[in-house]
Amino acid sequence: MSDGTQTPAELVAAVAEAGLYVVALTDHDTTAGWASAAHEAQRLGVRLVPGMEVSCSSDGISVHLLSYLHDPTEPALLAEIEQARVSRSLRARRIVERLGADHDLTWQHVEDQLAADATIGRPHIADALVARGIVADREEAFAELLSSRGPYYVRHYAPDPVEAVRLVIQAGGVPVMAHPLARRRGRVVGDEVIEAMADAGLAGLEVDHRDNDPQAREHLRALAARWGLFVTGSSDYHGAGKVNLLGENTTPAEVLDEIIARGSGSPVSS
Ligand code: AMP
Repeated sequence: MSDGTQTPAELVAAVAEAGLYVVALTDHDTTAGWASAAHEAQRLGVRLVPGMEVSCSSDGISVHLLSYLHDPTEPALLAEIEQARVSRSLRARRIVERLGADHDLTWQHVEDQLAADATIGRPHIADALVARGIVADREEAFAELLSSRGPYYVRHYAPDPVEAVRLVIQAGGVPVMAHPLARRRGRVVGDEVIEAMADAGLAGLEVDHRDNDPQAREHLRALAARWGLFVTGSSDYHGAGKVNLLGENTTPAEVLDEIIARGSGSPVSS
């Protein structure tokens, strides 16, 4: 329901097909896919951990916070993600205006790529650029035209990650910092921000992720050990939208058990 290229039900079917038995669904700033994913998960005997990836910003640096098993109706968290979603939509239009000055791209071209209720992000603009023949694929779109370091980039509103950790916990969720040192995507926060998140109740770090290089993973494991955080792994699979393969990184069963034990806002469907 954000920037994957499959519907939540298609994703769960692909999970079953790949021989995986548990999956977390973590769309950006929305839980709109939970119901259809849970329905398909039950039908196919896959365990579904409902989640979300909360867009955050720490002094202008993008941080993604995974929330597992929170209550999707909790008002304070809901208000934050709604604000982020509205801002994302306005920001996407501004990016397209900027791009449109130099390229044959209009807002309608982007709308043509959007599913109903989707959380709008740069990947949808990338898809429009591909459809217009301006770039070959999302990867090429992000390399220059959509780069956060490029001239067309516009920020969107997002909560501070320390505040987001508190909101996720208040909603009964388990907060895990996504790909903390994914430097290929842009600037990353320093250890002091991760420490402040840990002090606020951060539960884990997503260490095994293709965008954390080997040195980054080693450093993150040391931080996790120091601050008593658990370590997860994930594919960050987006269908055809990224090269990431389903199950290319996984989370140990005992860590899954801990997530389930700590999450009180929503049940795992199985
Ligand atoms: P946004 O949240 O709108 O700023 O867009 C960021 C999202 O784009 C990330 O969460 C990724 O899912 C996706 N993304 C970032 N880099 C790439 C890339 N090189 N190829 C495909 N998708 C990407």
